[in-house]
Amino acid sequence: MSSTLSTPKPSRPSGPASAAGHSKSARSAREAAISAVTNYSTSAPTFDFANTEAGDYYSANVFNQSVMKDRLPKSIFNALMKTIEYGEKLDPNVADVVASTMKDWAMEKGATHYAHIFYPLTGATAEKHDSFLSPTSDGSTLSEFSGKQLIQGEPDGSSFPTGGIRVTSQARGYTIWDVTSPAYLLENPNGTTLCIPTAFVSWTGEALDKKTPVLRSMQALNTQAQRILKLFGHNDGAFVASTAGPEQEYFLVDRHFYFARPDLLNAGRTLFGCKPPKGQEFDDHYFGAIPERVLAFMLEAERELFKLGIPVKTRHNEVAPGQFEIAPVFESANLASDHQQLMMLTLRRTAEKHGMACLMHEKPFAGVNGSGKHVNWSLGSSSQGNLLNPGDTPHDNAQFLVFCAAVIRAVYKYQGLLRAVVATAGNDHRLGANEAPPAIISIFLGDQLTDIFEQIKSGGAKSSIDSGTLTVGVDVLPPLPKDAGDRNRTSPFAFTGNRFEFRAVGSNQSISGPLVAMNTIIADSIDYCATKLEESTQGDPDALNGAVQSLLTEIINECSPIIFNGDGYSEEWHAEAAKRGLLNLKTTADALPSLDTPEVVELFEKYQVLSKRELESRFETYLEQYCMTVDVEASLTIRMAKTLIFPAAIRYQNELASTCANLKLVGYDFDTDTLDAVTALVKKLQDSISALEHAVDDDMAGSPLAEATHRCDAVLPAMSAVRECVDNLETFVADDLWPLPTYQEMLFIK
Ligand code: ADP
Ligand code: MG
Repeated sequence: MSSTLSTPKPSRPSGPASAAGHSKSARSAREAAISAVTNYSTSAPTFDFANTEAGDYYSANVFNQSVMKDRLPKSIFNALMKTIEYGEKLDPNVADVVASTMKDWAMEKGATHYAHIFYPLTGATAEKHDSFLSPTSDGSTLSEFSGKQLIQGEPDGSSFPTGGIRVTSQARGYTIWDVTSPAYLLENPNGTTLCIPTAFVSWTGEALDKKTPVLRSMQALNTQAQRILKLFGHNDGAFVASTAGPEQEYFLVDRHFYFARPDLLNAGRTLFGCKPPKGQEFDDHYFGAIPERVLAFMLEAERELFKLGIPVKTRHNEVAPGQFEIAPVFESANLASDHQQLMMLTLRRTAEKHGMACLMHEKPFAGVNGSGKHVNWSLGSSSQGNLLNPGDTPHDNAQFLVFCAAVIRAVYKYQGLLRAVVATAGNDHRLGANEAPPAIISIFLGDQLTDIFEQIKSGGAKSSIDSGTLTVGVDVLPPLPKDAGDRNRTSPFAFTGNRFEFRAVGSNQSISGPLVAMNTIIADSIDYCATKLEESTQGDPDALNGAVQSLLTEIINECSPIIFNGDGYSEEWHAEAAKRGLLNLKTTADALPSLDTPEVVELFEKYQVLSKRELESRFETYLEQYCMTVDVEASLTIRMAKTLIFPAAIRYQNELASTCANLKLVGYDFDTDTLDAVTALVKKLQDSISALEHAVDDDMAGSPLAEATHRCDAVLPAMSAVRECVDNLETFVADDLWPLPTYQEMLFIK
């Protein structure tokens, strides 16, 4: 199968706002983008889906189970599968055979290099490439890839954030092969690389990455879930994995605009830009027809993802103009998390090929919806299926109710932690605005489950509200079985039929942190339930029903404040949540300290997911990242305001002033309203820039938390004040002098 692409090369964008005249840059970007759109013509389809068997491309670049089964000796394959499917310890002796088989497969498909892929705390994906070829003494080369090279690597990762775990004297970091996430080939126009997903740990064995705790938390969840299953008579021991299906929202803008906006280029979001005359209020974009150029991009991205074995399923327009969504079918959490990282990379790269930039930032544009990543979460095993599947009569399904109650208790007890794992500078712009879930963590259960838990509260559940049939009143349409609950888009944590959906996650985030938190808090609650049930049944199966009833009653009585089925955007909810004693941690600086509370430290230590030191290192790293993000934005704001906006404003002011003077000379009057307004705004702009400069300088290097709080309380408001002047000026200054592509252009030129 050919991997060369027949997508036409987009004309090269004209580069960032250059010294060649600011007033020109916005215009030339605009002209180039319009020409890219108007001259766009469909190329031959990049891939002939009609004449290719799904099996020939789906997973074609993955060293997956079927490839392994074909190529590995049976004993080796079986040993490996025990680790993959039952979480058993990996036998190091299998590695040599696997490595050489993997290398042969990769080289047959054109690979020249291999790379250990790891996921540092930056949230990005890191890779270190090594060639398969080694020179020999006789001047020829030998292709080599040993078990040791497969299992372990030692990247020089000293500049990855570690929050103090690795002092320079113990700077070693190791990457360790993760057998549960299959190796794959990443094709690039200039060569193919065999990629091996790995965990990244320090010389002392401490986690330096996002993957290690995911694996540990899955193990903890399995151990606890087995205890409940055993109580219900399921003893087969099939690994209970958490499953995840992340829905990714993103924006696409023409690359010409992207390069003409230093803020998009450097900060991933626009720091200025007034609301376009027409925004998203017509809702005409949501689920609308997908523009042709965008569809071409999507098809190619999906094809690439298919080859990597990533089961993308859904695509559609999102609420804001220029906003889209892609969602895969759920997978085991660790794999879903690796695939999510690959998906973000693939979307970015493919957008470039199509002359666009894919923006993953949570709030690239003020005033229109931001982007989230809904992480659908459940748990299940190959023999038991999905353990959060309520069945037709959930009130009867004691096992389901126990797992469901465990989730409710976990979210109630660890609201702060769930808020902390979605706390980033970018996501702060989204949470709490009337488009994303509020910063208050609550659970939406829907009518059916709420009713069941209400019944349990008052003595025992006897019935389930029937979901019934939906009839539309048109004979040609078939009657449909109705879902038992409606949707509620305002809830941060919603039960959606057979899984929970954590909606507060940011579009730019790695899903690992949220998964680690969910796996661990739910493991803790399942542990709690199992212990209670084991104690009260004492091995007597007949005592189980009564024990379940009292456990559920106790949990629901204690934790029901977390359940809220109403409108999460409303003022009343904020007041009500405060009355219920729920946390409302509005910003990253408010939320991150939840990582450092005694309960959270104890939780992660108890289940051996993160040690106190590992947790502290994360706390510190995330605070640092928050500060760095705000710092970059603040200095960009100052730079752009001074060198782009101010010059444009005074040019226009000068034009107005000279028009006024000239007209006076020839005896006309000139209404100076506009000149007055622009002059006042120019003054305000200068003042607000100085105030921001002061706020930035004011930072008195305190604790990392004090620094973050200063960014939040002083720097961000000062940035907003500058923005307000600039956005106001945008509505006055002559369009041909305005130095930046506008929202109107970026959002609507596709
Ligand atoms: P919606 O937009 O209605 O929320 P989507 O179809 O866009 O729905 O996404 C739903 C996501 O939930 C998909 O990724 C789907 O695979 C995932 N999902 C379904 N069942 C489970 C499950 N048991 N565990 C985890 N994720 C699941
Ligand atoms: Mg969803």
